[in-house]
Amino acid sequence: MLNVNGQDRAIAQLQRALHAGRLASTWMFAGPAGVGKFTLAVELARTVLCDRPVQRKNGASGNGGAHLPAVKHLPEDFALTLACGECESCRAIAAGAAGGGGGNHPDLHIITKELIRFHDASGKSKGTTMSIHVIRGEITGDPGENKEAKIAKRAFRGRGKFFIIDEADLMELAAQNTLLKSLEEPPPDTYMVLITASPQDLLSTIRSRSQLVEFGELPDEVIMRQLAEGGAEGLPKEDAALMARLARGSMGRALRWTHDLKVIEKKNADAAVRAEKKAARAEAAGERSDEEAATEKFTPGGILAWTRALGRVLDALVAGRANASEVAEAIAEYAAEYSALQLERDKLASADRAKRDGIQILMGIVAEWFADRLRRGLGTPRGADGKGGGGGALPGMTGALDYALVPQLIAAARDAEWQIDMNANDKILLAATTTKWEKLLRESA
Ligand SMILES: [Zn+2]
Repeated sequence: MLNVNGQDRAIAQLQRALHAGRLASTWMFAGPAGVGKFTLAVELARTVLCDRPVQRKNGASGNGGAHLPAVKHLPEDFALTLACGECESCRAIAAGAAGGGGGNHPDLHIITKELIRFHDASGKSKGTTMSIHVIRGEITGDPGENKEAKIAKRAFRGRGKFFIIDEADLMELAAQNTLLKSLEEPPPDTYMVLITASPQDLLSTIRSRSQLVEFGELPDEVIMRQLAEGGAEGLPKEDAALMARLARGSMGRALRWTHDLKVIEKKNADAAVRAEKKAARAEAAGERSDEEAATEKFTPGGILAWTRALGRVLDALVAGRANASEVAEAIAEYAAEYSALQLERDKLASADRAKRDGIQILMGIVAEWFADRLRRGLGTPRGADGKGGGGGALPGMTGALDYALVPQLIAAARDAEWQIDMNANDKILLAATTTKWEKLLRESA
């Protein structure tokens, strides 16, 4: 449980409940995506299901070679309850966690978006919402379809059973109502953790029956440290700082994007090998090697490259060396590359949705870039206020900018972020937004 970084408040809340022996049957872990909610839910299950949980004083460091820092918000002499990490139960969960869940433990049920297609008899599910079939199939049962109620069964290993619903807000209304009935009368020793980034999308009756644990954004330092760790595998410090900055407090986002960089490297290396072989074959056959081979390259540059390139284009726009359509083209190009990467990761993802996500992320970067300009202009770079930890400044800043314009420039970017979610036409939106930036900048000049 202590391996979840930067969420001491949530850990302290769970530790107090464990210590008092009053673990609520239904929990809601709410907070932004990728800050450790799922990991901590699995850790809670591991602790409760452990055959031989251990007690350790919060202030005691170096116990068993583990130099873990004390949990803030808890006294030094507080007795932490931790999973032993060695019993059959702990090992089963660890083995499952390696595969992205806790699938190897008979009393740990993890319900994720990936199960949507499994329970969709029509096979037409787009995988964007969780229907009643998923909840019946995985939790409450369905006599009509001969599916047992997993929630009503006795715990296999006798220590209780855990249900973790990831992205619980994806549950359709009927699914939520079915679940609600189970929450009203939970079977003994049954625990449920609902994980969500938007608790307002869950029924108020579900919310009121859940014990809320709030998760905040992670500080840049926590993300940076993890990204830079791992020697040769880790990111260079400058890249880690920029990545942490772009991830906006989400370790999940930072790790996904860092993984993307590895995918890009591998794809490009593979393409280079193929091109070389092709050239060798062509030469052996007495043909002139053509330039076609070069087009086989997997082009996406990745978030760090896009951010740096976008910084240069924006700087050119501010300095009058680039016009609106060049900026729009750059954003469209990087959004398309982002989309290609998403489809690489999830073959079932929607290309249009992925492109929109890409535009949203890039608009967020633009807003941050303008904000950075303003902070620098005011002599209060990020980190000077003790927040953000410094570092990770967005690159490409030379042209003179009228700082009075910055709020309007940022507002246009934020408006585009919002409109792209409302299914606005992306080409028109990009043209309109970049033209607005250009107009603001030129009118002031
Ligand atoms: Zn154990």
